[in-house]
Amino acid sequence: MSKPLKILMVSAEAAPLAKVGGLGDAVYGLSKALAGLGHRVKVALPVYGNILKDARPLKQKAGSVPVEMGRHSMPVDFLETELEKGIKALLVRHDPLFDRQGIYADQFGLFGDNPLRFILFSKSIPALAKAFDFEPDVIIANDWHTGLVCARLNLGDLPKTASIFVIHNIGYTGIVLPENIEALGVPDFFLTSDLMEFYGSPSLLKAGIAFCDALVTVSPTHAREIQTPEYGAGLDGFVRHHQSKLSGILNGVDFSLWNPADDKLIAATYKPGKMAGKAICKKALVAQTGLAQAAQKAPLAGMVTRLVTQKGIDLLLERIESIMASGLHLVVLGSGLAHYEDALKGLVARFAGQLAFVKGYNETLARQIIAGADIFLMPSLYEPCGLTQMYALKYGTLPVARRTGGLADTIRDTAGTAGPDTGFLFDHYSAHAFAGAVDRAVETFGRPDSWNMMIKAAMTGADEFSWEKSALAYQKVIEQMRAAPGKG
Ligand code: ADP
Repeated sequence: MSKPLKILMVSAEAAPLAKVGGLGDAVYGLSKALAGLGHRVKVALPVYGNILKDARPLKQKAGSVPVEMGRHSMPVDFLETELEKGIKALLVRHDPLFDRQGIYADQFGLFGDNPLRFILFSKSIPALAKAFDFEPDVIIANDWHTGLVCARLNLGDLPKTASIFVIHNIGYTGIVLPENIEALGVPDFFLTSDLMEFYGSPSLLKAGIAFCDALVTVSPTHAREIQTPEYGAGLDGFVRHHQSKLSGILNGVDFSLWNPADDKLIAATYKPGKMAGKAICKKALVAQTGLAQAAQKAPLAGMVTRLVTQKGIDLLLERIESIMASGLHLVVLGSGLAHYEDALKGLVARFAGQLAFVKGYNETLARQIIAGADIFLMPSLYEPCGLTQMYALKYGTLPVARRTGGLADTIRDTAGTAGPDTGFLFDHYSAHAFAGAVDRAVETFGRPDSWNMMIKAAMTGADEFSWEKSALAYQKVIEQMRAAPGKG
């Protein structure tokens, strides 16, 4: 192991305290795994309304610390709690900006002052490090919310600290409103297009990319993709400019939470070589979702997803006729854009017994679908890493997915040229290509020997997606970064 380091993860989300999506899981998983390698890891996070209501004790460390925000200052309190046994969460409290019902949004939509909220959070980090007497060797800052932390380190805050900036989603650029520019506290030359300016306004995401010592995104394929116009969200040229400090490191799976061999929430457990439980899970899923009995013998596909354009819902809707005609049965769990929810509701009436749709967010049903289905659909337009396909592989549910981002890096479909395949990939983002991959899955399902060989390869191969492996890759990035002149 390399010398133990002090690592501060800075993030808007960290499960289980604050989670909206994959970011919360990733920060939690990586923190735990880096601690497992012997490093001293702490996680900095704002105090949202739900954390104030949480049963766990919050210990006050410092009160009313002024954070300079342009001509004014805002007072913050620093609190401490446990994120996970042995991992402390260091919390920044400023109730007028953070004590709200949601993390980024409530039932009326996104909070208009999100940039200001995360400018305050980012600017409080040096004072937080001092208050807790935890001057980190490395800060790992995540997504646009924390990009300003990297910029501030270049202004002399925490002089011994190097930074890694992790892009989980390049689509959110963190545009700063004119009235908040002063609060950034950066010199004017930072606000030019070769540093923070993005189409006329400062971008906090650009700040992270420009000023970090090392740049990471969450899969090797996505690291190449964000350098192209198709996936770069207008920042591809800027990312190419910083390409020498960029790496792609795949997120991991927490196998203590996701393992069909000891999952308490599925109808029966199973593992490679002892697969009877998977058929029981399928039977339970068919009964529970009101599908016809015929689904038990037919290929049964599942989808667990946010219902947004990124996830390729359009491809499914466009080809639903021919997909249903192939004999596939399908269970969809998700919520999101109203027009997708309405379209799926309408289709359930048309394909009664063959298609089930459950609207909502339901972690138990998500697991039951992932365990009970034969096939898992992820026709994403883009997928920086994607966790769900890794869960599906671990549960022996073969993905039909687009060859993009983390999907391309975790699902093998090489016509058997690199060992047994683990799923069915298509390249072109079109309903036709998607339907072709579904057809291949249905056809292969009809050949049990081939199917079972793929399931075994998927389940055993999934063990590779460990957080420990990701943490070792981050550790390597840290070592290289600290070996560079002037760092550490
Ligand atoms: P993203 O972060 O883009 O939504 P990921 O695949 O990385 O996609 O992670 C999504 C996570 O959220 C997974 O753990 C998945 O199981 C879960 N999830 C998504 N939609 C639902 C839902 N409707 N109910 C329960 N879990 C869901």
